[in-house]
Amino acid sequence: MKILAHICCAPDAVYFLKRLREDYPSAEIVGFFYDPNIHPYEEYELRLVETKRVCKSLNIELYEGEYDVENWLSAVKGLEYEPEKGERCKVCFDFRLKKSAEFAKQIGATHLTSTLLMSPKKDLSLVSNSGNASSNPLGIEFLALDYRKGGGSQEMVKLSKSMQLYHQDYCGCVFGLFNQKGEESANYLYSQKERLPGSREELLFIKQARLIAEELNLSCEELEFGFLSWKVLKSSLEVNKTPIEHVVKPYSPSIKGVLKTSPKIVRENLIIYDKGGLVVLLVDDFSENQVNFQMCQPVFMVHKSYKELILSGKIQATLETKIEPSKSLYLNIGNINAKERIILPADSNQNQEINLETIRDLLKAKEMDIKLGNLLIIIEGASSLLSPGRGFYSLYYGIEIAR
Ligand code: SF4
Repeated sequence: MKILAHICCAPDAVYFLKRLREDYPSAEIVGFFYDPNIHPYEEYELRLVETKRVCKSLNIELYEGEYDVENWLSAVKGLEYEPEKGERCKVCFDFRLKKSAEFAKQIGATHLTSTLLMSPKKDLSLVSNSGNASSNPLGIEFLALDYRKGGGSQEMVKLSKSMQLYHQDYCGCVFGLFNQKGEESANYLYSQKERLPGSREELLFIKQARLIAEELNLSCEELEFGFLSWKVLKSSLEVNKTPIEHVVKPYSPSIKGVLKTSPKIVRENLIIYDKGGLVVLLVDDFSENQVNFQMCQPVFMVHKSYKELILSGKIQATLETKIEPSKSLYLNIGNINAKERIILPADSNQNQEINLETIRDLLKAKEMDIKLGNLLIIIEGASSLLSPGRGFYSLYYGIEIAR
């Protein structure tokens, strides 16, 4: 017996696959992540990386289907305003389970099932009907398992928490999201290249780092913290109509309108202007002095090569920033009481980016030290915003961390 389990997300998979393994001990079980209904792509990646963690923990081979979002959108065309559990969801199940059944056939599976059956918000009979209609014509049996009953849903929540799995708060598609959250959904759909503090991209990076660590069998623990997030909405800096490349210092306040001002004091690498509290900090590298810079003035960092130009006339500056409540994470890899600690930023704000390859290389090189409890690697969320989680980290673990 070979069972292909279509997987929609990690929380729905974690208990479902465990039960499947227990109930079919001699079956070969294979996972298939096929969910082109998930928007945006970063959200898809986030759910996929967590599914990989679940499958790894259960030693289940996982295949990823194509992210053929355009075909999915064509399939549900005209059903955009349907409510959840309505006609669009039926088409969505048909779409995913049809492809899953074809894949089951391709790999020689005799049975198909889906973790959609575990989801508390899904209509079980709708999923079963789709599963049967997709599988039967191909000679594959669909297992319409109800693992929600008998305390299954509670077990699922417990297991999901113990693995610290990402738990999404919308089903997946743009239409369900819009019905649920209205205009606020725009915040969820916006993808960015940068990993801003507290963003989904930053969370994805932390989860990807965790997967790398767990693949090396290193112990991991996440710690969530709240903070006041600061963002630049727009900024500009010009002298004599020449735009100047710059990075704005974290927590710089907005400038009202356009600020035109002249240099008043020049001291080493600082230029202080005569209006608006404006400061220009001349640097060799934009990632300098990110931490412990306590000024609450508009501060622009500019490369030293611009010094002559910047002092040649009046500066013209605009700045719009935003502060809002947010949350982020620490990822601890190794023993919390290890004597040596290395702290790496998770966000890529303020030119302090590290990539997953750096993390992989470091973990491989230090694998034994981490396993022996001598070294703790800490991946720090919102690091560029003056490390706002460190106070909570100290409170929680009773240890101070410093750079
Ligand atoms: S709400 Fe969920 S099940 Fe329904 S169409 Fe959207 S993604 Fe599919």
